[in-house]
Amino acid sequence: MRTGEIEQFEQLLEESVAFHGHLCAGQVIGVRMSMLGLRLVGIADPKGRDRKKLHVIVEIDRCATDAIQSVTGCRFGKRSMNFKDFGIMAATFINLETSRAFRILASEDSRSMAQHYAPEIVDRYRQQVHAYKVMPEEALFVVQKVEVSIPATNLPGRPLSRVRCEMCGEWVQDGRELKDSGKTMCRSCGGQRYYRIVSPGTDK
Ligand SMILES: [Zn+2]
Ligand SMILES: [Zn+2]
Repeated sequence: MRTGEIEQFEQLLEESVAFHGHLCAGQVIGVRMSMLGLRLVGIADPKGRDRKKLHVIVEIDRCATDAIQSVTGCRFGKRSMNFKDFGIMAATFINLETSRAFRILASEDSRSMAQHYAPEIVDRYRQQVHAYKVMPEEALFVVQKVEVSIPATNLPGRPLSRVRCEMCGEWVQDGRELKDSGKTMCRSCGGQRYYRIVSPGTDK
């Protein structure tokens, strides 16, 4: 990193640590991944004048995802961020104006190379944090130029549809319903329920 970049990195890391709650390898990776992603898709001011141009898809819900939110300002609640539960330390940065998109993966080699970049640090975890700060981007990440088509039902704006589940009566927005034997259903009724109702109401 050049001097200006190092200052920017330290500033962004400080913000992401405050947002996330602690300094960890994930914060360093997430901040550096975001800086690279923004640069590749040509976005300079993600929280200001470019804020409507950026969309990020994250593939893991771990520490680095907080750093990506902190640096880019992208949020699930603003639909500028989307989550694919793939369990892979990767994220795709998309410039919605130009369609330029890059998927960035934390390289597997970076783990084993931490030793090489910070041999003086004994504690493995602290060694990783430091090594990820100084490692060149090429060692830290694998980058792919990609094409992504984001469905309109994943983008900001008013819901594009709203239908009622024929089983439970709850309303489902933006095409997330399922169809089974001609019946329109919410995902819970369609077999993806993640909870079991113990009693209706608060059961005080
Ligand atoms: Zn963490
Ligand atoms: Zn339902």
